[in-house]
Amino acid sequence: MITSPNDFVPARNGALDEQWDVVVIGGGNAALVSALSARDHGARVLLLERAPRVFRGGNSRHTRNIRCVHDYTDAYYTGRYPYDELWTDLGGVGTGPSNEALAALTVRESETVPRWMTDHGVRWQPALTGTLALARTNRFFLGGGKALMNGYYRAAERAGIVILYEASVERLGFTGDACTEIVVRVAQGRRRVRAKAVVCASGGFEANIDWLRRYWGDAALNYHVRGPRYNDGTVLAQLLDAGAERAGEERGFHAIAVDARSPKFDGGIATRLDTIPFGIVVNRDGRRFYDEGEDIWPKRYAIWGRNIAVQPDQIAYSLWDSKVHGLFLPPMYGVSAARSISELASRFDLDPLAVEETVARYNAAVDRGPGGRFTMAERDGLSTVGLDPPKSNWAQRIDRPPFYGVAMRPGITFTYLGVAVTEQSHVRRQDGGVFHNVFAAGEIMSGNILSTGYLAGFGMTIGTVWGRIAGREAARHARG
Ligand SMILES: Cc1cc2nc3c(=O)[nH]c(=O)nc-3n(C[C@H](O)[C@H](O)[C@H](O)COP(=O)(O)OP(=O)(O)OC[C@H]3O[C@@H](n4cnc5c(N)ncnc54)[C@H](O)[C@@H]3O)c2cc1C
Repeated sequence: MITSPNDFVPARNGALDEQWDVVVIGGGNAALVSALSARDHGARVLLLERAPRVFRGGNSRHTRNIRCVHDYTDAYYTGRYPYDELWTDLGGVGTGPSNEALAALTVRESETVPRWMTDHGVRWQPALTGTLALARTNRFFLGGGKALMNGYYRAAERAGIVILYEASVERLGFTGDACTEIVVRVAQGRRRVRAKAVVCASGGFEANIDWLRRYWGDAALNYHVRGPRYNDGTVLAQLLDAGAERAGEERGFHAIAVDARSPKFDGGIATRLDTIPFGIVVNRDGRRFYDEGEDIWPKRYAIWGRNIAVQPDQIAYSLWDSKVHGLFLPPMYGVSAARSISELASRFDLDPLAVEETVARYNAAVDRGPGGRFTMAERDGLSTVGLDPPKSNWAQRIDRPPFYGVAMRPGITFTYLGVAVTEQSHVRRQDGGVFHNVFAAGEIMSGNILSTGYLAGFGMTIGTVWGRIAGREAARHARG
């Protein structure tokens, strides 16, 4: 917040004192795509990234792939993925798209995204293998999200886009329906930046634990944030305070199960746990609480953060036996091993009797279930009978020592509550109009598309599709 006008430092060098065509706020995928797109459409662009150069790239630098419609097979896609199938997949997660027209536009526009990315320097690699089988539907960036972002930054520099790091936007000033002032904190102090058009691509508010507490209470204190601490929603809050219409659910977020030993922030991709469908999950009381085999893992991994978030103390334990050990990516901090279930329970300070009873009841329900071949490639129908909650697939007895386990916490990837936009990515106002020179792309507007669920690889789709639109429209606006 501005404390005094004297806080503002006088002009000393070019970038912050010019009148820019387009100022892009943020430094992740949506921001870089917006900046490149605005530049392609003839605008002079300034990009303000809050992070230092070494940590540039937001959540996007942790990513690996993007999900797009395609009707071909090549060295990177193992098969076709038509519009109807992606649309159906999107409709099948959570309560379906928030705004059908904008979601349909996103899916439709995704088809031209890989070509656009290639044209802007992105290189590809064959799909990584592992528990999330995405080789047909998703395209993998060569070297992952860090390489992707480095490539985009290089392309931006080559295109003449001016980039400022450690430039944190603190306030947006409005006159009527126009943003007339961007207040940014840089090393020298606070500065006012002027732009004909502004693209807000500063992510969600997942790193703002106090904001999460408004909707989740003290449970939020136990959440881990998978990406950097910079996405605290400052710009989103400014837009909402200025009268922007909300999109998305307050408690909507993408959250997975992460290793409870992960760092509080920025653990990235490596702290994810993929052990859940191989065994059972118990809570602090040693009780199961959700079907671990409800569907194949790519369709279910993203519900486990929420599942754990609503358990006592927001902690849960994934347990399995030696039959399946080694069939999944190993947890990066190692696992606890024990000769008996009660010994394993003690390792986690769980009540050994409660966990033994849970495992015994589960094993008995497996015995009553159908026999068959255990296979992770598909729903194998190996289910429990008479157990609540059931385990619908991959149910095998937990009976072969050593027994293994790992403690899990909710790991928040990004939040969905954001600003409503038009098809031109204009930020909508509560009074039915728009902020005529303010555009939004990426996580900050993902609530227009995502309600409660998530489809792997679609975060980057949203950022790229809407970054292209926002950059183009901002440039058009600036040209008048
Ligand atoms: C570990 C992990 C793995 C993921 N893997 C995938 C994947 O493989 N595929 C996929 O589709 N999605 C994936 N996601 C989700 C994906 O990262 C997001 O959907 C996507 O990166 C959002 O892009 P964005 O540009 O909107 O936000 P971000 O990339 O988070 O960028 C936000 C930017 O805004 C900057 N910023 C914030 N506040 C300010 C401010 N006040 N002033 C200036 N700058 C500010 C931040 O520093 C950051 O640079 C993953 C996320 C995580 C955390």
